[in-house]
Amino acid sequence: MPTYEYLCRRCTHVFEKRMTLEEKQNAKATCPKCGSEDVRQQFFGVNFLGKKTGGGGASGGCCGGGGTGCCG
Ligand SMILES: [Zn+2]
Repeated sequence: MPTYEYLCRRCTHVFEKRMTLEEKQNAKATCPKCGSEDVRQQFFGVNFLGKKTGGGGASGGCCGGGGTGCCG
């Protein structure tokens, strides 16, 4: 069963939900912290796994500015 990660846009709480694709299509994800339905699905491996090659000076670009500590 895949795990989906969501970011609450109201309180910025990040949470995971395990559900089948069918459940995902039928159920609306809600934030367990504040109950908001204004959540956005995060996608694994898109932004978080990339090791920086070269560059630099990209301060504040971590994880799209979510401030959720995922760069720790
Ligand atoms: Zn929330």
